[in-house]
Amino acid sequence: DESRQYISDSIRTIPDFPKKGIMFHDVTSLLLDPKAFQLSIDDFAARYKDHKIDVVAGFEARGFIFGAPLALQLKCAFVPLRKPGKLPGETIGASYQLEYGEDRIEMHLGHVKEGQRVLLIDDLIATGGTLAAGIKLMNQVKAEIVECACVIELPDLNGKAKLGGLPLYVQVQKE
Ligand code: IMP
Repeated sequence: DESRQYISDSIRTIPDFPKKGIMFHDVTSLLLDPKAFQLSIDDFAARYKDHKIDVVAGFEARGFIFGAPLALQLKCAFVPLRKPGKLPGETIGASYQLEYGEDRIEMHLGHVKEGQRVLLIDDLIATGGTLAAGIKLMNQVKAEIVECACVIELPDLNGKAKLGGLPLYVQVQKE
């Protein structure tokens, strides 16, 4: 529809970043336009307002940008999922494979509790590895994942297949 198109048009594409051959979808251009940013947050809020979300969990770093205002609008907690070594308290983590090597995300122990209803959010799903690690993390603390949400999906990479059957909600699809 019109607002999805507006959101999509506000996201610029930068070729050959971070390396040659990669088309990088850059949401910093969306953030410059308060109408586009508001449309995105309002769309997520409308979708989740009646889902009894306890926690919005956002991935470092761009997942914070969308997750934090959404949590405020839903009047629920926001929990940052961070790169290793960033969080000062006791943490639990989940590792995941990259093309070369491994990465890991961490969250503060006790900040998501057993049975809490969690929405996982990031700016973009590519291979799905990042969201899959978030799912692992939430399963470790026996939280209930309501859905995974992203502004952008790259459907050609089939990241959805890595989510173990959990639903994925996206606002725009790109190549
Ligand atoms: P995945 O783990 O392969 O699904 O990659 C998703 C992660 O990489 C997310 O945290 C994104 O922020 C980041 N990412 C990958 N490609 C892009 C892009 O084109 N634009 C913005 N972020 C990207």
